[in-house]
Amino acid sequence: MRIETQCVQAGYQPENGQPRILPIYQSTTYKYDSAEHLGKLFDLSVPGHMYTRISNPTVEMVENKIAALEGGVGAMLTSSGQAANLLAVLNLASAGDNIVCSSAIYGGTINLFAFTLKRLGIETRFFTPEATDEEISALIDGRTRLLFGETVANPALIVCDIERLANIAHAHNVPLVIDNTFPTPVLCRPIEFGCDIVVHSTTKYMDGHASVVGGCIVDSGNFDWERAGKYPELTEPDESYHGVVYTKSFGRAAYIGKARAQLMRDFGCTPQPIAAFILNLGLESLAVRMERHCQNAQAVAEYLEKHPKVSWVNFPGLASSPQHALAQKYLPNGVCGVVSFGVRGGRAAAMKFMDSLRLAQIVVHVADARTSVLHPASTTHRQLTDEQLVDAGISADLVRLSVGIENIEDILEDLAQAFDQI
Ligand SMILES: *Cc1c(COP(=O)(O)O)cnc(C)c1O
Repeated sequence: MRIETQCVQAGYQPENGQPRILPIYQSTTYKYDSAEHLGKLFDLSVPGHMYTRISNPTVEMVENKIAALEGGVGAMLTSSGQAANLLAVLNLASAGDNIVCSSAIYGGTINLFAFTLKRLGIETRFFTPEATDEEISALIDGRTRLLFGETVANPALIVCDIERLANIAHAHNVPLVIDNTFPTPVLCRPIEFGCDIVVHSTTKYMDGHASVVGGCIVDSGNFDWERAGKYPELTEPDESYHGVVYTKSFGRAAYIGKARAQLMRDFGCTPQPIAAFILNLGLESLAVRMERHCQNAQAVAEYLEKHPKVSWVNFPGLASSPQHALAQKYLPNGVCGVVSFGVRGGRAAAMKFMDSLRLAQIVVHVADARTSVLHPASTTHRQLTDEQLVDAGISADLVRLSVGIENIEDILEDLAQAFDQI
């Protein structure tokens, strides 16, 4: 199936007489005919569900859809994107370890990595997108567990050179983890460029209607943990799981199998079945929506570029963007619906402009069907120091516009009237 078809059809295939639409299994528990069968489930020797903290049929079918979309061997939904990033790292890193991470990533992830993981004894070594291969390699040592980047950074819209990072990671026998939230697999499939683990905040375009917070981790199945020779947590018995060896029990899906059997069991950041159902509704129209988001954002970016009250426009789809070459390589069918720009007159003018918008509303959200607007420096990224803001590609006058799927003329008219107010 092609990706547009997978969005609609993958994950749930009803059998004779079963509901046509993904059913909601709103049940914490499952019934067994024998204690022996349940014992086998606990041993991971037969597949099945035992408790919804760990897995659930509705959730599993949406996981299978996202795994198909990204081209992975397995996926695990989480209660939020933050939980997905947390578990993706903790699945490999413990106190005393470090991770090597692009500075051009979501502000919430910077917080999680730079501050909260540090309190757990895990160090994050950041590099800027301009860093050379040698500079990035110099950050990697025997305790480095993974490399991390974001396909299109929220909100700086810096495009990650995934293939380059994959080559650096693999030269050091560590996996590359990529947050693919903004493009979604409709616009970019990082696994095709060598990425090993994909993470998502499904809260954004995947749900697409600002209805449900969620996250997802996808395992490509391509990283050879045994050959790397330094991931005993995957290749040697887990004493917390009566001696299970994840690479033996789960084969290529060892990473995601461990994330579920060990970390989801212990942390319990589980999505509700109803949340997975709502996410699935969003996924069904994902390919169609992404196409419209990209068209509208391109038109908005071209309009803003010509506007005298705009000091700069950042949209990788513009030929003038320094990100354009990378965008053409990784995102040939469009980047996403988010455009950032500077309003002449700095912070005050930016705020007046935002207050004057009518169709586009101020929300702490991005990437849904409605056009919305946000000022990151005073909101989502206000915990960052000025230096971290610069590294993340954010300035005080930056307005982040999330272009929706409305009629483009209405969006442009709204922008025009707001510019007239300043
Ligand atoms: C929003 C976002 C997150 C965090 O996801 P939540 O679902 O809000 O927890 C992580 N990464 C990126 C790129 C995001 O945009």
